[in-house]
Amino acid sequence: MLEKLRQMVCDLHAELPNNNLVAWTSGNISARDPETNLVVIKPSGIKFPDLTPENMVVVNINGEIVEGEYKASSDTASHCYIYRHTPQVNGIVHTHSRYATAFATHGRSIPCITTAMGDEFGGDIPCGGFALIGGEEIGQVVVETLKDSRSPACLLQSHGVFTVGPTAEKAVKAAVMTEDNAAIAWTSLQMGTPLTIAQSDIDKLYDRYQNVYGQ
Ligand SMILES: [Zn+2]
Repeated sequence: MLEKLRQMVCDLHAELPNNNLVAWTSGNISARDPETNLVVIKPSGIKFPDLTPENMVVVNINGEIVEGEYKASSDTASHCYIYRHTPQVNGIVHTHSRYATAFATHGRSIPCITTAMGDEFGGDIPCGGFALIGGEEIGQVVVETLKDSRSPACLLQSHGVFTVGPTAEKAVKAAVMTEDNAAIAWTSLQMGTPLTIAQSDIDKLYDRYQNVYGQ
């Protein structure tokens, strides 16, 4: 079932250790098939080198297993909550990447202080409140936090990062960019208070990057 999507989700998982975003088995990616509304997600507690297209888990939009030998990721209920409440999202990534999570431990947003952040996020990367793992509470915080934001990424207080996208690949890119910009912001904050970019300029950066940049 969903052979291509299983392959894609499996391949994308390799990007998390490749980009130094995860340790051991932490972190996960899911993708929704817009036609069937089925979701392919990482199996729980399997190390990244051991992931294969075959051991990915297929669940329905309510998080019930449709196909798979393994238990699904412990964040499955939250991924499914996000899919049910944001129809434009077809890919979700979760990491505990270091610098971004350091901001989350203070409940702090990552400030939009570089043009790259204006491009990708259109403003600060917001930080949502604390939620326990296992149910859909994390999903509720993500939906609530991203509701009024252009950002495809948010932090979860004392936990880590969730990113969303129209495809799983775009959500992975947002996870990579979140950590890169978190590291820049953290470094910058060691030198005092960084300069800010005017909101009107952030709007122009975001518009150009989203609508003009690239091939
Ligand atoms: Zn987590």
